[in-house]
Amino acid sequence: KTPLLELHDVKKYYPIKQGLLRRQTGNVKAVDGVSFQVYPGETFGLVGESGCGKSTLGRVIVQLLQATAGEIQFGKKGISTMSAKEKLAFKREVQMIFQDPFSSLNPRQKIGDILEEPYCIHTEMSKQERREKATGLLHKVGLNPMHAERYPHQFSGGQRQRIGIARALALNPKLIVCDEPVSALDVSIQSQIINLLEELQEETGISLLFIAHDLSVVKHISHRIAVMYLGNIVELATAEELFTNPQHPYTRTLLSSIPAEHPRKKRERITLAGEIPNPANPPQGCKFHTRCPYAEEACKKTVPPLIESNGHAVACHLIQ
Ligand code: SF4
Ligand code: MG
Repeated sequence: KTPLLELHDVKKYYPIKQGLLRRQTGNVKAVDGVSFQVYPGETFGLVGESGCGKSTLGRVIVQLLQATAGEIQFGKKGISTMSAKEKLAFKREVQMIFQDPFSSLNPRQKIGDILEEPYCIHTEMSKQERREKATGLLHKVGLNPMHAERYPHQFSGGQRQRIGIARALALNPKLIVCDEPVSALDVSIQSQIINLLEELQEETGISLLFIAHDLSVVKHISHRIAVMYLGNIVELATAEELFTNPQHPYTRTLLSSIPAEHPRKKRERITLAGEIPNPANPPQGCKFHTRCPYAEEACKKTVPPLIESNGHAVACHLIQ
């Protein structure tokens, strides 16, 4: 199968400027060389603590942020080499949904107008056609067409996320980057939104890049999962493999904090020493060594490469 999205050693650095002259004294390496593929119809989970670079990476993929280095290919075409016309098509085909989809929206705009906006920008549709499309979108995400006349503040968190999804679907995208779309919602509402995304994927064959800080959120929806730590992927495998055979000590720590589904299969609970280090000054060698219960001398000096075997990739000296 041909990948829909390919990342090749993607980096996003932010300059640190200090002193009166604002001289650059270093970089925050928010994303520090990430490579993976997302296939058509696949849900790819991206998991890590806050500050690991996962949201930055999501924004780089949808081109809200410019990568510092590396290459992103969409449908075999490098983004940096796209013509203006191809860029416009990319903007239709790749959408993003956020934790709070309304934080960036005009509170005085009705939902119907919000949903019609993508058609105004990207198509020549008449007002009548746009309205029909907006109604269809509301229906698709399980909302009442009457809701078109309401304003953002008149909706609950779950309904808002449905509207965010409707807006993302307007132009029939091929990929939606979902940046923690359920982490602000009640647990019961979370599963409704995840089910909705799954249904829409079955219906349309769309690919999802699902970003979360919690492995349990991505477990059931993802085909494959990548675990990120301080700007790097430390483990990547199918969801089943990652949950049944986790290799990286960080992944095992994340898993140990999830209550086991079967009471007899109790997981040993591993707690991490200390806080996530400052990304402006990450540890040398394996960036996880300051918190890893298995760290050895070599871990402080040499960066463990991400090595794949049978579709399961791990970056740890212990494993290799
Ligand atoms: Fe722990 Fe060393 Fe493996 Fe890093 S390389 S995860 S410090 S054992
Ligand atoms: Mg985030």
